[in-house]
Amino acid sequence: MTDREVDLFVIGAGSGGVRAARIASGYGARVMIAEEYRVGGTCVIRGCVPKKLLVYASRFADEFEDAAGFGWTLSPPAFDWKTLIANKDREIARLEAAYVTNLERARVTLVKSRAVLEDAHNVRLVATGEHIRAKHILIATGGRPHPGSAIAGIEHAISSNEAFHLPELPRRVLIQGGGYIAVEFAGIFAGLGAQVTLVYRGENILRGFDDDVRAHLRAEMERRGIKIVTRQTVAAIEKLEHGFDVELSDNSSFIVDCVMFATGRRPNVTGFGLTEAGVRLADRGGIAVDEYSQTSVPHIYAVGDVTDRVNLTPVAIREGHAFADTVFGGKPTAVDHLDVPTAVFSEPEVGVIGLTEAQARARLARVDIYKTSFRPMKSTLGGRDTRCFFKLVVDGETDRVVGCHIVGPDAGELIQVVGIAVKMKATKADFDTVMAVHPTAAEELVTMREKSASYIREAAE
Ligand code: NDP
Repeated sequence: MTDREVDLFVIGAGSGGVRAARIASGYGARVMIAEEYRVGGTCVIRGCVPKKLLVYASRFADEFEDAAGFGWTLSPPAFDWKTLIANKDREIARLEAAYVTNLERARVTLVKSRAVLEDAHNVRLVATGEHIRAKHILIATGGRPHPGSAIAGIEHAISSNEAFHLPELPRRVLIQGGGYIAVEFAGIFAGLGAQVTLVYRGENILRGFDDDVRAHLRAEMERRGIKIVTRQTVAAIEKLEHGFDVELSDNSSFIVDCVMFATGRRPNVTGFGLTEAGVRLADRGGIAVDEYSQTSVPHIYAVGDVTDRVNLTPVAIREGHAFADTVFGGKPTAVDHLDVPTAVFSEPEVGVIGLTEAQARARLARVDIYKTSFRPMKSTLGGRDTRCFFKLVVDGETDRVVGCHIVGPDAGELIQVVGIAVKMKATKADFDTVMAVHPTAAEELVTMREKSASYIREAAE
């Protein structure tokens, strides 16, 4: 029996679901959104936002140290983890409340419940037992940490979810993984004073990023005292009276207070009736969708990490908005997933857009590389041994800048702006016509005149 009928039922009130719900409601649709945990999703509750707050906290350590070179005398600074976590939690609660208010203002009905698809049109609210009939359904259930292979003692490893709520700052931390979350948390814990070991199964961290970026970041992280162990995995974790004994695949072992796995995330596709509704999954495990986010069932759509396309918050938001425009606004809108700028909030920060050098050399007939590495001005008096890195990858035939890779302070801020130029298909000559802003680090983007390398692809036989 149907208790209520809506035009759109959204499962998951994270970044993508909330945006879709609000925009669809603005077009006049009757919208209901269900969330079983907290409104805001991974990004707001236990991802990007709290992570960036911890990153800010961790960076004060360098500032205090460097201040001496600029004439400051400080009494030894002290850090209190509990204060940071309590203040972070307060801010996250404020943001969650703002999300709820925005949904209310948009006249979206929010239900705090798990929602289960009974078939392609009917949804059951587990909390109340209510049945809702929906003309359209949007799945925006995101993803969750995946711990990797089962090993002895895996239950002792935390994921990023728990890292935000540790009762105290661990003195010694071992992180497994070499992606976004692993390098970001390595920087956070190290900045706050912990001894950090990062264990990565491959040759170098941040697979998929430009090789120069990977090498530069690794060297910078090691300079900051983070121990990076490559070509190894965690084989077993044993709980000790105080801490854990972590054994690696080469039989070496580390005694630490906290073991964190950042070994990727998987789409949330189970336990809410996708099969009953007839929704097909893609080979990699996410929901299969077309460029309009439509699933194999024509009136069911999916956006964000559950589709495992480009797993980033702004992409999910864009996909949610495009879905609402397409289905309720009469404006079919496909999301452009090309050249998405992205930042890794490691220490130092990474900002990238477009092709890596390796990708460009594999795809383009001619590639020109411009790159530079230098000591940022602030480090001169600060006395810090650190370097920035800037690289432009240019299509040698058209002169178009097809990639930009930055490691250094504010790389995330910089790549957002460079992203506009890259999306506008700016050429290296366009970059060069722009007057430098002096003295900044970013001026390198418009002053790199000498090619560092030039490659011509051999014609295929
Ligand atoms: P990533 O996919 O970035 O990295 C996962 C890492 O774990 C890789 O280094 C991978 O190695 C390694 N790994 C995977 N499986 C195993 C295993 N069984 N044993 C050992 N190592 C393993 O995932 P994250 O968890 O870091 O982040 C999840 C997603 O969240 C990212 O893809 C990103 O889209 C998003 N995110 C974005 C942020 C941002 O925009 N700043 C911040 C944080 C997260 P290998 O390289 O060999 O595959």
